[in-house]
Amino acid sequence: MGGIDALAAGGERQVCGATSALPLSLALATVQITEEEQEALDLIDPTLRCTLGPHRGRHRDLVLDTDEDSAVWTSWRDGDLPTAVEILKNCGESNGLAAGHDDVCTHYAGHPDDHSWALFDPVLAYIDQHVPAALLRALAPFLSERKADVQQPQTAAGR
Ligand SMILES: [Zn+2]
Ligand SMILES: [Zn+2]
Repeated sequence: MGGIDALAAGGERQVCGATSALPLSLALATVQITEEEQEALDLIDPTLRCTLGPHRGRHRDLVLDTDEDSAVWTSWRDGDLPTAVEILKNCGESNGLAAGHDDVCTHYAGHPDDHSWALFDPVLAYIDQHVPAALLRALAPFLSERKADVQQPQTAAGR
């Protein structure tokens, strides 16, 4: 057995995975409370997915990571849209492994259940396996084009 099957069969607990969507008003509120520039809106993914371990009560997802030791989170009840955002301290608990295998919990301080690095996230596992190569291929033309732009002389120089 390999890959995702091996991980899931290892007895690891899966993330909750409940989904919702962030209303635009809360994306705007996030930019306001963090005093970020309006461009920060581009960094906010309105697709919400609870990455906590199995839990009761409200689901939570990170909205915007703006600070070294805190981030903006939202929460929602099953089947509902969220109605507020709040700044929460990061959990930041380390898994205590050696460099290269070390990881820090991405949940907020005081979260229920296991730390993020102890949970199996099927969506992240899929992204890890499939997206980086595909993304690099897709971005390659733009990256080289950008370099070419920089090297182009000013058109007004020929006068
Ligand atoms: Zn949840
Ligand atoms: Zn944690």
